[in-house]
Amino acid sequence: MFDLSGKVAIVTGGSRGIGRAISETLARAGAYVVVNYAGNEAAAVACVEAITKAGGKAEVKQFDVGNAEAVDAALSDAHKRLGRIDILVNNAGIALDQLLLRVKPEEIEKTFATNVTGAIWCAKSAIRVMMRARTGRIINLSSVVGESGNPGQVVYSASKAALIGLTKTLAREYASRGITVNAVAPGFIESDMTSALSEDMRKVIVGQTPAGRIGRAEEVAAAVLYLASDEASYVTGQVLRVNGGMYV
Ligand code: NAP
Repeated sequence: MFDLSGKVAIVTGGSRGIGRAISETLARAGAYVVVNYAGNEAAAVACVEAITKAGGKAEVKQFDVGNAEAVDAALSDAHKRLGRIDILVNNAGIALDQLLLRVKPEEIEKTFATNVTGAIWCAKSAIRVMMRARTGRIINLSSVVGESGNPGQVVYSASKAALIGLTKTLAREYASRGITVNAVAPGFIESDMTSALSEDMRKVIVGQTPAGRIGRAEEVAAAVLYLASDEASYVTGQVLRVNGGMYV
C-alpha cells in the first residue's frame, strides 16, 4: 500500500533487531536504504544481502551516531552519491540498565550520546537536505518506558523521554518546510536488546501487556513505514505507541 519508490532512507542501527526489520520493510516498499551500524559489520552485511536477495536496494554505512563529524560526513556522502535524503529513522539505541544508586557517569554519557545526541546530530544533517527539498520524514525510536518509566531503567527511560521532546520541537520547527517528525514508542519487542531478559521477567512483562505477548520487530517497522509514507503527510509531532496496550 505505501510506496517509497525513488526515495532514499537512512536507518541508524538499521542492521539488527528492530532496525533491521525497518530497513527491510522500507526497502520492500521501494526505498533505497542506507543501513547504518556501529561495530557489527557482519550483521549489517547480512541485512543488506537479505534486502538485495528480495529485490530491494541498500548499502551498509558504518558510523557512530554520537560522533557529530562522522554523522555529517556519512550523510553528506550519501546525499552527494544518491542525490537525496527523504527519510531518516533514528533507531540506533543502547540500554545500560541500572538502579539509580548504581548508575555511573560513563553510563549516562554513553546512553545519551547514542540515544539522544546521536538523534540530534543525524536530524541536523538530514534536515539541511530536507529543507532544500521542502519535504522529509524523520522518525525517532522512543520507548514505552520513556512515557511510563520503569524501575532499573532510569538513564534509558530519561533518554527515551528526551526523544519525545526532541520530536515535538522539531515537528514545530520544520512543519512549514514540509518535514514531518514523529516518534514510535515500542513496548517490549523480541530483539538482542530484550533477549537477556529472564523467563520470570518475560512473564511479568507479558502479564502487563493486554495483548498477552511480546511484540515483533515487524510490527514496529509497519508503524515506521506508515509515518515515512506520503499518506502520513499531515501527521507530525506525534508518538505512535506500538505496545500491545501496555501503556495507553
Ligand atoms: P538492538 O537489537 O540492540 O540493535 C541496536 C542497533 O543499534 C544495532 O544495529 C547497533 O549496531 C546500533 N547501534 C548501537 N549504538 C550505535 C551507535 N553509537 N551508532 C550507530 N549505531 C549504533 O536494539 P533493538 O532492540 O532493535 O532497538 C532498536 C531501537 O528501538 C532502540 O532505539 C531501542 O531503544 C528501541 N526500543 C527497543 C525495544 C525493544 O524491546 N527491543 C523497546 C522499545 C524501544 P551494531 O550492531 O553495530 O552494534
